[in-house]
Amino acid sequence: MHYTCPYCQIRQIVQADQRYVETVHIHVEKNAEGQIGFTIEATTCANPDCAQTTLIGRLRNMRTDAIGRMSPTPGSLESWTLRPQGAARPIPDYIPQAIREDYTEACRIRDLSPKAAATLIRRCLQSMIRDFCNIKKHSLDQEIKALRGAVDAGTAPRGVSDESVDAIDRIRAIGNIGAHMEKDIDLIIPVEPDEAQLLIELTEMLFDEWYIAREKRGARLAALKEMADSKKELRTPQLPPDTGA
Ligand SMILES: [Zn+2]
Repeated sequence: MHYTCPYCQIRQIVQADQRYVETVHIHVEKNAEGQIGFTIEATTCANPDCAQTTLIGRLRNMRTDAIGRMSPTPGSLESWTLRPQGAARPIPDYIPQAIREDYTEACRIRDLSPKAAATLIRRCLQSMIRDFCNIKKHSLDQEIKALRGAVDAGTAPRGVSDESVDAIDRIRAIGNIGAHMEKDIDLIIPVEPDEAQLLIELTEMLFDEWYIAREKRGARLAALKEMADSKKELRTPQLPPDTGA
């Protein structure tokens, strides 16, 4: 089976020794769900630098098979991603803590309260514009307009593309509803879990295009500089003597 590791984002084909699945029959009676079982699914990442294990739990219906054994029926009544928690991507430490916290919390409450998740993502976004783009105005609306202006004028930080500002505009259109629910009561548009998930994914895109890309550029430049410096050190003693000519 194909698997994209939620920790390192590497897509891979899972080998048998990377996966463990077991179903336990739950012996309860007179319950509403009928015969039930709980399946634990564990998948370990093949990338040796990651090797993290994902855990999923599933509540399933059980049936008696042809040879009288209890086995799970296809599909699940409910499922939970137990690890990583809330399906939040692990976010590197060089992204400010307040931004990481808002993002992770939004992922955790996405299904329970998509409106609250959308509002947290909106705040997350404002923090990113203030921190990464160094734009601070009275409202997110003004900040996005200023950012759009900076992109058009070519003065926005590297990595801030037209596409990323378009994506932010979409976040704002949904996130505002969550933030101003009491005021704009006639304008409420329900935010469904899949819409909240869209907002979360747009935020992840900005993590990649802004912070992670900047960090990688910095690391590449540092490596180049180190290589250039070591070559210079090698060369220095071999310079021809100054003849004064
Ligand atoms: Zn991995």
